[in-house]
Amino acid sequence: MSSIWPAGPRRVLVVGIDGVRLDLLPELHTPHLDAVAAAGFLSPVEVDDATPTMSGPCWATIATGVGVAKHGVLGNHLGGHRLDVFPDFTTRLAKAHRRRTFAVGGWEPLFLARDGGPLFNAPGRLSYIAPLEDTPEAWEVCDERVTAEAEYVLARSDDDPQASFVYLGAVDETAHFRGCGEDYRRSVETADARLGRLLAALRERSTYAAEEWTVIVVTDHGHVDAGGHGGRSDLERTAWIAAFGPGIAPGAPVGPLHHTDVAAHVYAALEIVPDPHWTLDGRPFTAAVPAL
Ligand SMILES: [Zn+2]
Repeated sequence: MSSIWPAGPRRVLVVGIDGVRLDLLPELHTPHLDAVAAAGFLSPVEVDDATPTMSGPCWATIATGVGVAKHGVLGNHLGGHRLDVFPDFTTRLAKAHRRRTFAVGGWEPLFLARDGGPLFNAPGRLSYIAPLEDTPEAWEVCDERVTAEAEYVLARSDDDPQASFVYLGAVDETAHFRGCGEDYRRSVETADARLGRLLAALRERSTYAAEEWTVIVVTDHGHVDAGGHGGRSDLERTAWIAAFGPGIAPGAPVGPLHHTDVAAHVYAALEIVPDPHWTLDGRPFTAAVPAL
């Protein structure tokens, strides 16, 4: 079977943590995110003027590498989207490049045909794990199960996804219910511990030493102090990207980043040159795009 899947040593893991405020990170105990930043960078991203500071449009931009004018996702109901023309990276890589891909999480429109979704339409492996209630506690349970599922898939070299997306939603849910206080801060730290488990799962792979991993951690938007987003305040518009991997010099400054750059960097990290017809709006985090 391996001839069907031109693996090579490159692998990418994208961890999406919903609604993590950049300004609070220095006060929080997030050793695993700190480690990602130390091995590469952590840099702010401003949600652009055309994009509502809502999860649907922001995750669509992150996953597709194009802005709202192209993907057409303008709210948390994804209806009217053009994701058939501008697919998420797990779907494009699986279909056009025969790469193994994987997506997992608990927010319906990202993974299910609900609310106009799914954003992640047809990865090679797809896991949706429902939160049993719409509460912060239920979302922590959901994220725990999402993490366990991702650990299982990522650690086993036989499944071997080359590009994966893992979505954690409890932080955002906590902010919506309780504002950005102690519970929110604790939830960010819990998400960081889950990030640590995902990084450990990569290192557990029997083939890890021969592989070249890129890890990208990204949030979609911020929150006002009372919890909530959708407006144009700096707190809501400020997101961030952290990443390490081939071509990213540890601690070196990166240029102004955009959410569209995530998918563009996924392709670059897998040494795939985007077809001009994809009309990606983003660019890789580094200028060094290997030629095919
Ligand atoms: Zn969100």
